[in-house]
Amino acid sequence: MRPEARCSVRRIGPAGAARDPGEARVVAVRVPEPGAADLSEAERVVVGGAGLLGGPDGGAAAFAALSEVARALGAAVGGTRAAAEAGLVAPERRVGATGVRVSPELHIAVGVSGAPRYLAGTGDPAHVVAVDRDPGSPMMAAADLGLVTDAPGLLAALARMLRDEAAPGTAADAVGDG
Ligand SMILES: Cc1cc2nc3c(=O)[nH]c(=O)nc-3n(C[C@H](O)[C@H](O)[C@H](O)COP(=O)(O)OP(=O)(O)OC[C@H]3O[C@@H](n4cnc5c(N)ncnc54)[C@H](O)[C@@H]3O)c2cc1C
Repeated sequence: MRPEARCSVRRIGPAGAARDPGEARVVAVRVPEPGAADLSEAERVVVGGAGLLGGPDGGAAAFAALSEVARALGAAVGGTRAAAEAGLVAPERRVGATGVRVSPELHIAVGVSGAPRYLAGTGDPAHVVAVDRDPGSPMMAAADLGLVTDAPGLLAALARMLRDEAAPGTAADAVGDG
């Protein structure tokens, strides 16, 4: 691979010339991966909690689907302490009083009960969406929109829809093949 094809910034002036900040220009803007985007600065965050940890894989597939959904929304991914302790998000992506403090416009909490020590780190978002099977959870009470459903199932369906949109026809073809 050519060296200049590997990076998004290149020298504008001749080699060795004095740098003039006025000459700088944006060559490319790269969107960070949801699992790497700066949580504390993110305008949209999608956070997964212990409600995703069930199943034989301990929640790995549910968190992969969560990342796919977050990528489609341009959101950063975080986790509760339970998710971080289960190893499904990096410890530094734990949201809450003793983790990262976020202040997004949109906060989507999936399988998160909304414990006080979690909510203490979530700022004052304009929009809060909670997905939980318990309609009485504190997270539901804090939400503008609550979806009472099985969270891993919802994420799997959303991720499937996103994949079908990216490669239209494959799902219908598969049904037709049977
Ligand atoms: C000193 C101290 C500091 C702490 N700091 C933090 C912190 O910074 N951040 C933090 O997150 N926590 C922190 N905690 C822990 C905190 O008190 C909670 O225990 C934690 O936030 C709970 O995480 P959770 O919501 O993922 O899990 P839970 O409270 O167990 O909630 C899981 C939710 O998932 C739902 N659910 C289960 N299965 C499904 C399903 N199949 N579909 C849909 N919903 C489902 C349940 O109804 C429930 O609402 C701290 C605790 C202490 C003592």
